[in-house]
Amino acid sequence: MKILKIESFVVSQTLEEPFYFSQWEYKTRTICLVRVTADDGTYGWGEGYGPANLVKAGIKFFNQYILGMDALEHEVVWQQMYLRSLDFARRGVLLAALSAIDIALWDIKGKHYGLPISALMGGRKIEKIKPYATGLYFTRCDALKEKLVDEALLYKEQGFKGIKMKVGLGIAKDVEFTKAIKRAIGDDVELMIDSNHAYSLKEAMQLCNRLEDLGISWFEEPVSPEHYSGYRQLRENTSIPIAGGECEYLRYGFLELFKNKSVDIAQPDICAAGGLTEVKRIAAMANTFGVELVPHSWGTGVALHAAMHLISNLDSNPGRMYDAEPWMELDRTENALRDIMVEPLITQENGYLKVPNLPGLGVDVNEEMLEKYLVKE
Ligand code: CA
Repeated sequence: MKILKIESFVVSQTLEEPFYFSQWEYKTRTICLVRVTADDGTYGWGEGYGPANLVKAGIKFFNQYILGMDALEHEVVWQQMYLRSLDFARRGVLLAALSAIDIALWDIKGKHYGLPISALMGGRKIEKIKPYATGLYFTRCDALKEKLVDEALLYKEQGFKGIKMKVGLGIAKDVEFTKAIKRAIGDDVELMIDSNHAYSLKEAMQLCNRLEDLGISWFEEPVSPEHYSGYRQLRENTSIPIAGGECEYLRYGFLELFKNKSVDIAQPDICAAGGLTEVKRIAAMANTFGVELVPHSWGTGVALHAAMHLISNLDSNPGRMYDAEPWMELDRTENALRDIMVEPLITQENGYLKVPNLPGLGVDVNEEMLEKYLVKE
């Protein structure tokens, strides 16, 4: 069963309302999807996380090396792509291209054997996944705090058991907003904060000190991803769990996070850090170091389905009679590409997502929507 064809598709949506985080604003959502087809006609979908045109160029780069290889031997293909990129792209967007192709090969393998990816990975250890809502981005408006509180209450009403908000507006504003939101949602909904590496170590410590009693579930990307020891020093000085890793790549990158005791929660993006093949390895390593793993998940239903399969396969660490339920990130910002690009649509019931049961990823890309949002060359 040979790899016959690899096609990439850049899709883009212009947002009605731009959103801001601690670094800059987004006016569009642009994503690169890949479809890999085997010589028996079986095809699989994958997705890369990062600048879509660069991901597309990366997929084109790998094409020449993997066409004709056995589509079912995804580790062999992975190693070929890894070695072809190693000399000049040990980290970064070329690995998003590798990740996209890897996910598509898992999809093909699942369809070929008639099994969901979670089964191929060794089986699902949970049947339903607890998503948390990622939202509460900044917008330019006069009553931002009130707007964010209303948005948080909407997520609570929708059944979310956790909500992640952006911080990074400066310590005073962050404290004011975080307290207002926590007060509004109450103790039965968990609250995480994410600064997208907006702060120096000193500033991150100040923020932690002032939020220490609020019961924050984690502080994500508090400092620069380059500062492994800064992460560690912050961890040693706060009871708030520290999360990070969405800018990290491959098991070699995560090894640095783990060796440096930088995080309580590792957040590899399956569509960037090396695909399902590599993130399963990273998960085994996280488990070895006693670190929790909650993938960074963003993008279309292809990426979200990949995350659901992986999360359902994670071991609880440590195990106990009533295991903690693993989280899954569910972006709630305006994104037509996430909501309508795949079928079946992702639905949430009583605050949970059902682990997909169909062969492969368990979704197909809607060709009509693909055509509608496709960036024509
Ligand atoms: Ca984040």
